Amino acid sequence: MSENHHKETYRFETEVTQLLDLMIHSLYSNKEIFLRELISNASDAADKLRFEASTDDSLYEGDSDLHVYIEVNKEARTITIRDNGIGMNRDEVINNIGTIARSGTRQFFEQLTGDSKNDAHLIGQFGVGFYSAFLVADKVTLETRRAGLTAEHGVRWESAGDGNYSLETIERSARGTEITLHLREDAGEFLETYRLRGIIHKYADHIPFPIRMKASAEETEDGKEAEDAIETVNQASALWTRPKSELSDEDYINFYKHVGHDYEPPMRWIHQRLEGKYEYTLLLYLPKHAPFDLWHADSKHGVKLYVRRVFIMDTNEDLLPKYLRFMRGVIDSNDLPLNVSREILQKSPAMEAIKKGATKRVLAMFEEMAKDASLYKEFWQQFGNCLKEGVIEDFANKERIAGLLRFASAGHAQSSDEPTVSLKDYVGRMLEGQKKIYYITAESLAAAQHSPHLEIFRKKGIEVLLLHDRIDEWLVSHLHEFDGKPLQSIAKGELDLSGIGEEEDSEARAEQDKKAEPVADKIRAVLQDKVKTVRITHRLTESPACLVSDEMDISTNMERILKSVGQDAPNVKPVLEINPEHPLITRIGGLTDDQAVAEWANMLFEQAVLAEGALPEDPAGFVRRVNALLAG
Ligand code: ADP
Ligand code: MG
Repeated sequence: MSENHHKETYRFETEVTQLLDLMIHSLYSNKEIFLRELISNASDAADKLRFEASTDDSLYEGDSDLHVYIEVNKEARTITIRDNGIGMNRDEVINNIGTIARSGTRQFFEQLTGDSKNDAHLIGQFGVGFYSAFLVADKVTLETRRAGLTAEHGVRWESAGDGNYSLETIERSARGTEITLHLREDAGEFLETYRLRGIIHKYADHIPFPIRMKASAEETEDGKEAEDAIETVNQASALWTRPKSELSDEDYINFYKHVGHDYEPPMRWIHQRLEGKYEYTLLLYLPKHAPFDLWHADSKHGVKLYVRRVFIMDTNEDLLPKYLRFMRGVIDSNDLPLNVSREILQKSPAMEAIKKGATKRVLAMFEEMAKDASLYKEFWQQFGNCLKEGVIEDFANKERIAGLLRFASAGHAQSSDEPTVSLKDYVGRMLEGQKKIYYITAESLAAAQHSPHLEIFRKKGIEVLLLHDRIDEWLVSHLHEFDGKPLQSIAKGELDLSGIGEEEDSEARAEQDKKAEPVADKIRAVLQDKVKTVRITHRLTESPACLVSDEMDISTNMERILKSVGQDAPNVKPVLEINPEHPLITRIGGLTDDQAVAEWANMLFEQAVLAEGALPEDPAGFVRRVNALLAG
């Protein structure tokens, strides 16, 4: 214990030093955010104390007037930000201030571009708040004592942001944390109280605790009292409890920057008070850009749960389903008990009901946004793949989410290279006699667009959805129909387009098929180890052959995806379908030399593999065969 009393010096983790460096260089033009970040931490600390005190009143130590106090000393060139929140013990200071405890740090560094605007945005999201003190200070002193500990458990932390910090145990009677910034030469503007007030209004009006400052002489009428008068600078009421009519867009946007840890304004928000069996208020924001950790397993931010204005916890999947993890904001419930564990909260029926209600509201917001095509396109680009997860994850809302999906398509006069086609659009322009929603899955948009499977659809003007994201394979394995119309892969099973569009001359067809039958037999004999069978098709108009999966087998695209992520995939043999009208097929029909038939048949198969976007098993052999045939 006593050894803690003298000053010890520690080194920051390398990442912290790197981060400090980076911040100072990319955020130098936006220094004022240091105050937002430090106030935000003070407010979090007050929230935490209020929550812990709800089960142990003694933590208030007789002082439950939670607030933040900001003091300027022009002579010493310091700003002090003091809170009477939860405070920190020695270990907490080491863990919270000296390290970046979050995983994803590496990914964070990888995403930095060197473009300061973009990087500043990332830094905001990453939440390196405390270190922003070094934007304006060349020395930072933090003194703190955790609520519930005695005065001799105070801690002083100090650093000049140069890679080291010192730590000592001190006497501190006041609970909470006090941060003193020794301002840099170029940060003198922040000694002006009007400047600080401006920043507080801009960023912290909504903080639900008073932020107090000494009133400056020119702002009070009574000159004598001005010396000591203390004023509350911010609105100090929870923004979401105020009526919509009182709130400006700017209020909403500033609050978002605080709860969403974002630098940019949000794309949209919803603010509603719900009264039914359960009463709650939600203020949910849709960010403009996907958070950098959207695809990490442990993305940090989410929706904050409050109970009657008291912060309870940051939630991940408790208030909104996982596929809506990009949403930010606050839900404040009147029904949940304050003093129960997270586990009990998660199982409470009120929580269930809130989650259900909030999900509905968010989906309704997306539906509303879908009326504005260009807005929705932006949204879809950022979050479309999350909605696809929703179809898989959220059974109750499946049809509704399916209605929000957008795809590229081909074949039809109104089809689109961009993901703008909804299933409803598709169904609305299905041809006379068409009963199914056709789609193709492929590795890329180009591979889908150029697939030989599309040929007959193009010819007949039947629209085909082009599914080229990895998640699409899972999507179609969960979404079997929309609006009563089954979804059908055009690369699976035998194709029957009879009854759609103009009929083909079936007599001429039968004649052709009869002629091609022996060719199919010849090819089948050569490829029997590689394909299930060889059959004649009329789905092709330009290509000689294509691969088709059986209705019940996994698609070749899915097989490729599974293998590429190192999973076992059943090795299913495809069916080779040949186009009886193609000159190559006629040519093979005329060959008598077995060796030549084998070469042509193999090449036909390898071409079909290539057209799927895959590589033939023996690429060099393929090239040799093509060259030999070209030269011959
Ligand atoms: P974040 O707020 O996103 O966690 P910060 O860098 O702003 O990141 O703060 C790091 C941590 O330091 C906080 O999570 C908190 O545990 C601790 N901390 C910072 N300021 C205070 C404070 N005023 N009172 C208590 N703890 C604090
Ligand atoms: Mg913070």
